[in-house]
Amino acid sequence: MIVCAATNNAGKLRELRRILTRCGHTVKSLRELGVTLDPEETGATFAENAALKAAAFCRATGLPTVADDSGLCVDALDGAPGVFSARYAGEHGNDDANNRKLLAALADVPEGARGAKFVSAVCLMLPGGRSLTVTGECPGAVGTALRGENGFGYDPLFIPDQVGLPGGATRPNTERRSYAELADAEKDAISHRGRALEQLEAALPDFLPEESSITK
Ligand code: IMP
Repeated sequence: MIVCAATNNAGKLRELRRILTRCGHTVKSLRELGVTLDPEETGATFAENAALKAAAFCRATGLPTVADDSGLCVDALDGAPGVFSARYAGEHGNDDANNRKLLAALADVPEGARGAKFVSAVCLMLPGGRSLTVTGECPGAVGTALRGENGFGYDPLFIPDQVGLPGGATRPNTERRSYAELADAEKDAISHRGRALEQLEAALPDFLPEESSITK
């Protein structure tokens, strides 16, 4: 399927592109499609925001559209920053400020109480208006210092419980590497986004109309 990856976030686009391409889809970015749009994320849940973004970009592009809404939910902060993850420190998408604020918020929280999970809701919207929303989660913890150079957002602070192995299997993250210290495939196999897209792929055969030009 030719699909629009509906995100203005370069890190997310890289992940959506590599995972959807691996699944055999052709991914078009907003830049490739010449679409500039920044819909307001007014939903109270990841699923609501994913659907809202997918609908807006599907309308603008006329293509089947995949949107992800995601964030980090920290136990010691009662689930914050959650749906506000991108703008936790105020300015939308300021990763450095967000990471600094998170470290400060957890300054007095001991290692054993720094549990957190990443959540991703992914919505596929078809031009006719049908949609499918799936969710993926990745449990882990918030580190005490930034570690690693890969990825984006809170990656240097998030220590997933598991890491991926070649072929898609997983194993415990005994070295306690951060998301930003994982290779792409090690992250995709266990990440919230990877898991959501795995659900999407599994649901596609039942969801897509047979003989549709969409599947070509
Ligand atoms: P939104 O879905 O556009 O509202 O933004 C989600 C925000 O959550 C991003 O700006 C990042 O701060 C964070 N986030 C989501 N997924 C990841 C990830 O895989 N790694 C690191 N941060 C992420």
